[in-house]
Amino acid sequence: MSEERVCEKNDELIIDIIDMGTEGEGIGRIDGYTLFVKDAVIGDRVKVKVIKTKKRFGYARLMEIVKPSKWRVEPVCNVARQCGGCQLQHCSYEKQLAWKQQKVADCLERIGGFDVKDIMEPIMGMDKPYHYRNKAQFPVGYDKEGNLVTGFYAGRTHSIIPSIDCAIQHPVNSVILKAVLEYMNENNVPAYNEKDGSGLVRHILTRIGMVTGEIMVCLVINGKNIPHKEKLIEKLLSCNFDDVCILNDVCTPYNVSTTHDANSTHDKNVDKKGEMLIQKPFQIKSVSLNINTKNTNVILGEKIKTIYGNPYIEDYIGDIRYRISPLSFYQVNPVQTKKLYETALEYADLKGGEVVWDLYCGIGTISLFLAQKAAKVCGVEIVPQAIEDAKVNAKLNGMTNTEFFAGAAEDVVPEKYAESNGKLKADVVTIDPPRKGCDEKLLQTVIKMQPEKIVYVSCDPATLARDLKYLAENGYKLERVRACDMFGHSFHVETVCLLSKKP
Ligand code: SAH
Repeated sequence: MSEERVCEKNDELIIDIIDMGTEGEGIGRIDGYTLFVKDAVIGDRVKVKVIKTKKRFGYARLMEIVKPSKWRVEPVCNVARQCGGCQLQHCSYEKQLAWKQQKVADCLERIGGFDVKDIMEPIMGMDKPYHYRNKAQFPVGYDKEGNLVTGFYAGRTHSIIPSIDCAIQHPVNSVILKAVLEYMNENNVPAYNEKDGSGLVRHILTRIGMVTGEIMVCLVINGKNIPHKEKLIEKLLSCNFDDVCILNDVCTPYNVSTTHDANSTHDKNVDKKGEMLIQKPFQIKSVSLNINTKNTNVILGEKIKTIYGNPYIEDYIGDIRYRISPLSFYQVNPVQTKKLYETALEYADLKGGEVVWDLYCGIGTISLFLAQKAAKVCGVEIVPQAIEDAKVNAKLNGMTNTEFFAGAAEDVVPEKYAESNGKLKADVVTIDPPRKGCDEKLLQTVIKMQPEKIVYVSCDPATLARDLKYLAENGYKLERVRACDMFGHSFHVETVCLLSKKP
């Protein structure tokens, strides 16, 4: 006898959305069978069309909102549904934060086995959750009519949704994108075609120093050079950014103390509350080419050629000045990053005499933040350019108590430990890995180094919970947890945790 199916492909049903999944998708049930519905908000009653069924769950497309949830809002961006960048724009920001807080708690409880009721602090949300990103990577291609376009990949595909005004990107980007497309059209520079590997320009990468106003533009190309590069430079240098000033209401004002920069030529402004803001006009400081001739989904190639200005831009987080290269990791939301690092610093509770190891240190961001209060900070990072930046950054900030090592943390730290005959110790270890979390070999060595405190910063609550469980089983106690929203309107959430050595 065949099992009775609750629903089939193409069925149209009305369901209530009772939960949201790990990627922000709505979850509804029909006779106990789970349906995942992208773009549906918890509390919605929706009409859906079933698109795929599996044994225990299926996927359905949102067709109509029968009764909107009290948390449903009109997305600011008119391509929010097609674009793969934001998953939660149709959900109120307040509810997004509550959902992210719960997501972290659930992972720590289910995967880590922790009871977080008493140790989890409230999530740090954004005051202005739009136009916060300082970095963008726009794919370049053609529309159906053969016009050159740039924008965003539609969710889970490589078809480009033409759009140059993104609700979470800094508005400086639209000016740059227009200029690059104009240069390409005027000089017959073709976009890359990933199907047959022909064409030239693959991606336009931008980075903006929100405090310094410095702008980096990098074209990722399928070749060694671009034709008429002087025309591109001319175009970019003649961009007018007057209408997209940092202090514009839609953008996030950035409050900085002025003590570190007494000789600068910053124009000084005072905001409504009388706080000092430093505003410097936006200015193109670096134009480069990134060579990527491989037929791959990876955006960046390894080689960078600077064609105008510096091979880097500079920016501040708090009082620390950072130099950033195109290939180095740098947090995309500077306002929230400051809150995140301040929390990490608070958790580390440094008194001045400590030795700190900062693993996965990027360009030394957390390292330098902690070096302000520690005796010595050692950073480890896999990208050699980032380590070069980290060394320069220490110098830029007059810090002499840092040392940086290039290599995989799971190789470098165990090697250093072995070389020291087990004498390598740390008072505090900070860990900030990519989404896949840490290699067990690294965690084993960290435990051997017997730090009093471990501060773990994570962009994936599931791997965080897995790693914390390991540390908790090996002599460490989870003391404090705080989520931070670095990526408003997306399903991502950052978390910082404090563990201490059990007596
Ligand atoms: N702490 C930094 C960077 C965090 S992002 C900051 O806040 O800016 C994670 C970093 O880990 C990236 O710089 C990435 O290049 C680096 N990374 C990835 N795998 C690594 C590994 N196996 N060992 C060391 N670093 C690694």
